Amino acid sequence: MTQQQQLILQERPNGLPNDSTFQFKEVEKGTPKDGEVLLKTLYVSVDPYMRGRMSDAPSYVAPFKVGEPLAGGVVAQVVETKSDQLQKGDIVRGNLPFQEYNVEKSDQVSKVQTNGLDPSAALSVLGMPGLTAYFGLMHIGKPKRGETVVISGAAGAVGQVAGQLAKQAGAKVVGIVGSEEKADYIKDKLGYDKAVEYKKDDFGKQLKDACPDGIDIYYENVGGEISDHIWPMLNTFARVPVCGAISSYNLKEGEQDIGLRVQQFLVKSRVLMQGFIVGDFSDHYAEAYEELANAVSKGNLHYEETIYEGFQKIPDAFLGLFSGKNIGKQLVKVSEPE
Ligand code: NDP
Repeated sequence: MTQQQQLILQERPNGLPNDSTFQFKEVEKGTPKDGEVLLKTLYVSVDPYMRGRMSDAPSYVAPFKVGEPLAGGVVAQVVETKSDQLQKGDIVRGNLPFQEYNVEKSDQVSKVQTNGLDPSAALSVLGMPGLTAYFGLMHIGKPKRGETVVISGAAGAVGQVAGQLAKQAGAKVVGIVGSEEKADYIKDKLGYDKAVEYKKDDFGKQLKDACPDGIDIYYENVGGEISDHIWPMLNTFARVPVCGAISSYNLKEGEQDIGLRVQQFLVKSRVLMQGFIVGDFSDHYAEAYEELANAVSKGNLHYEETIYEGFQKIPDAFLGLFSGKNIGKQLVKVSEPE
């Protein structure tokens, strides 16, 4: 078999991506040259930030090019090698084009160490989302015993890790979620103290009832009207790590995302609000990885993955992020290892 499937950006979406955003294309599989390996894709990670790359607005990561493959976190197996760095059978992770096979220089990927876990963990709890949760919470939020920590997107890839880390730091942890199923998940499996459902009419009341002592850390994943309920509840010297704002990612051209102005609350309560991206903390990846891996191996860090099967499911899996289909990390399983 010399042909393979590739997923390309067919056109830039205006608003929520749809069928005309994506196109599957058949292309040559390729063969490795000296220093290269042929990688068979096992798992593809779909992530909210990819929506930003589908637009051509300048950001911290370059836009995808129309007509070229989407790309992102991939776990793959080396099936042919012309490199002495990697052996046939090795499992690696990389930021790779979304196709069934990739020919890459061996230094473009790194060997996966998942300590006996399925290698999908390298894209979830022991990968980018786990590290993001760790740095946003521990390096910016800095939770203290007895504080109240509120996390939006609480049942997702980042939120599920952030909530447990906050709990382990001795905080009272409240999660904001979009369904009863997710509310049960974060309380029963992750140990959150309270869950509030933002799609219910009494969301504001639920939040106040869950946080009678105000909020010391708000781990921001969603933005928009949900967060407008938070600002007046922030305590003196509260911290707000701004990880993401998924509620605004699919705004159409010209649509505005303006809510309650936050400055008055930041001044009144001397709040630290800091946007960040995980790459800002690359010097600390090793220490964070070790902490997360230890916690998982001791059974102190639970995680879920929602896994769709088949390369053709990548668009569905990606779109599902914006309607809350996933619990934990959303992945697509493309093939089994050989
Ligand atoms: P998730 O696994 O949390 O998936 C997205 C979830 O967001 C959905 O399941 C849904 O849950 C919720 N959601 C979707 N649309 C809305 C909306 N309009 N309003 C409120 N909630 C919504 O994604 P990740 O954990 O991977 O990412 C979470 C956030 O962190 C995103 O904003 C992402 O961009 C950001 N991020 C930032 C990084 C960084 O370096 N700064 C790195 C990784 C992620 P529900 O059912 O509860 O609505």
